[in-house]
Amino acid sequence: MAPDRNTTLPNYRGRFAPSPTGPLHSGSLVAAVGSYLEARSRQGEWLVRIENLDPPREVAGAAKEILDTLEVLGMEWDGEVVYQNRRNEIYQAALAALEQQGLLYPCICSRKEIADSSIIGIDGPVYPGTCRGGLPAGRNSTALRVLTHDDPIEFKDALRGLIRQQLASATGDFVLRRADGIYAYQLAVVVDDAAQGVTHVVRGADLLDSTPRQIYLQQLLGYSTPAYMHLPVVTNKQGEKLSKQTQAAAVDVSRPVAQLVEAVRFLGQTPPAELAESSVTSFWQWALENWQLQKIP
Ligand code: GLU
Repeated sequence: MAPDRNTTLPNYRGRFAPSPTGPLHSGSLVAAVGSYLEARSRQGEWLVRIENLDPPREVAGAAKEILDTLEVLGMEWDGEVVYQNRRNEIYQAALAALEQQGLLYPCICSRKEIADSSIIGIDGPVYPGTCRGGLPAGRNSTALRVLTHDDPIEFKDALRGLIRQQLASATGDFVLRRADGIYAYQLAVVVDDAAQGVTHVVRGADLLDSTPRQIYLQQLLGYSTPAYMHLPVVTNKQGEKLSKQTQAAAVDVSRPVAQLVEAVRFLGQTPPAELAESSVTSFWQWALENWQLQKIP
């Protein structure tokens, strides 16, 4: 059961929210380690949520492999692991609340139609609002979009300072439920962070551009906005973010401490050379005592 956000709101509740599209790799490990150190060094809780909303992208066995790897790495989470694919009713309820406010509309545009008639924004083509005025008679609705505006959405990132975005220009009205019925990441992450009472989100900077959309949804749904920190992202030699698509290698669980040392070095921390030879327990003891945000590049 997710903790109740109204009665037990802690001072610090962080989370790690991997998508089980493959094993943990050195890029996702950095997000896990950064969020864990930030939470634990502040006596906070640390939750794990498996973001498996999208069945075609889920790799069988990957969720268990990720959790097993976290255990080998000595990263203990609080409470039960939450799986997004069991939470459709909760996402549907949030959509219904937005629908009631008249903020949603059905959209039948194909990707190609949008690409053909759009300018490129922060995340691909900006949706030009084609279906805002309603669908032609006889067309069944498919995707659901939320109305956006250009009043700036602002937040202060703990590492990157003030971030400002105007959603209507940056993305346009964005999809909350896809044509195939799958709830969008932007909706699910907002609903779950609120339902789980997450106070601090620490994750990779590849999601920095998504945060204003998430804050906008929090405002529409009457949720509070957590504090955000976006960590540097590990890239390969070609400068691409490590992911399944770029064939990132899985974390080698036969050398857990070496992998952890590499992750904290990436985050600018300076572990002594001998730490690599120590146990997982000694690693965490050192890492928690010496974790310094100012050192993150
Ligand atoms: N599931 C997302 C990912 O693996 C992370 C979501 C988040 O931290 O908000 O990229």
